[in-house]
Amino acid sequence: MPALAGPVPDPGWPSRRAGRHNWGVGWYEWVAIGGGLGGLTGGVAALVAFVRLRRTQRTLARSAQFRRDSGLTERVAFVVNPSKGGYPDFKLAAYALCHELGLGEPVWLETTVESPGTAQAADAAARPGVRTVVAAGGDGTVRAVAQGLSGVGVPMGIVPLGTANLLARNLKLPLMSSRDALEVALTGRRRQIDVGRLTAWDQDGEIVIDREAFLVISGLGFDAAMVSDAASDLKRRLGWPAYFISGFNHLADKAIRVRLHTVDGVRPVLARSVMFGNCGLLPARLNLVPDADLADGNLDLAMVETRHGLVGWAALAFQVLLHSVGIRFTPAWASGRLVYLQAKSFQVTCESDQLIQIDGELVGRASRLDAWVDHLALCVRVAR
Ligand SMILES: [Mg+2]
Repeated sequence: MPALAGPVPDPGWPSRRAGRHNWGVGWYEWVAIGGGLGGLTGGVAALVAFVRLRRTQRTLARSAQFRRDSGLTERVAFVVNPSKGGYPDFKLAAYALCHELGLGEPVWLETTVESPGTAQAADAAARPGVRTVVAAGGDGTVRAVAQGLSGVGVPMGIVPLGTANLLARNLKLPLMSSRDALEVALTGRRRQIDVGRLTAWDQDGEIVIDREAFLVISGLGFDAAMVSDAASDLKRRLGWPAYFISGFNHLADKAIRVRLHTVDGVRPVLARSVMFGNCGLLPARLNLVPDADLADGNLDLAMVETRHGLVGWAALAFQVLLHSVGIRFTPAWASGRLVYLQAKSFQVTCESDQLIQIDGELVGRASRLDAWVDHLALCVRVAR
């Protein structure tokens, strides 16, 4: 039997300072505390998101059940540009959501080059039970459908499938997911907005466009020339930057002699472009007409004035950038600037016929333009 060793020395209590920092908490505690707080925050965020999702689902389900129980046969009409990408998937999603919401079978109308949506929208709004007409396509389709619904009272939903999607951008509608946009188009709240109107005559006194609706910006000169050069295949490949590329081709175009008729009299102007803005937000968060309000009953006129070639255009671009971040600073001596005016209506005459665009669509050449707004003439559906 081995001899017993002597008494084992008592090592004492473990030191509280061993392996620790001076403030008494080791790195592993900090990691544990950080992980715990991170997990807790994530858990709370996930719980809030889950509760909101469930609440939305319950609201939609109750709404659908109410319609079924009450025997209502509400329907949604779709006016769709079938040339846009993802068309079959969009159609499936639209039918599925209508079924989910307890709506009747949708009215489905496609646009054509000859009939871009105005006639279809008017036809759809007149059908029994139709409570919303959804415009699905680019700015051209949205504008055409708005023209058919202006003053009618049936709300317009918007599913932006185009290049710039300007009205959807200004109304803060979902741009990245057509499924999200579809849900807002069918279940969003109603909002009344102004509709811009433009009548134009050429030098022979012939009417080029008569009371044509626009929702964002119409104009003559540089902006119309830029639109005319942005070919469809370039827009398809590059998206909205195609407009900037085509704009470079027209930086050297001559300024236009314009006579602006206002309540104060006639004002002669030498401008690169004259635009009428119902709203002004463009892609890349640029705001061309920062004071434009979609519901104030006024039209905002913006005139582009530049001198000294590229230097003037650079000064103009700088002003637009400043305005887009909320800084209003335009010195009178600037070689490039936007001059703004606001009124119920404007009349503009030019010394020769100029290219005219409305919401990014070229409509011809004219030398006299009358522009105004129909106050709150269009009802749209926007996010709740
Ligand atoms: Mg306005």
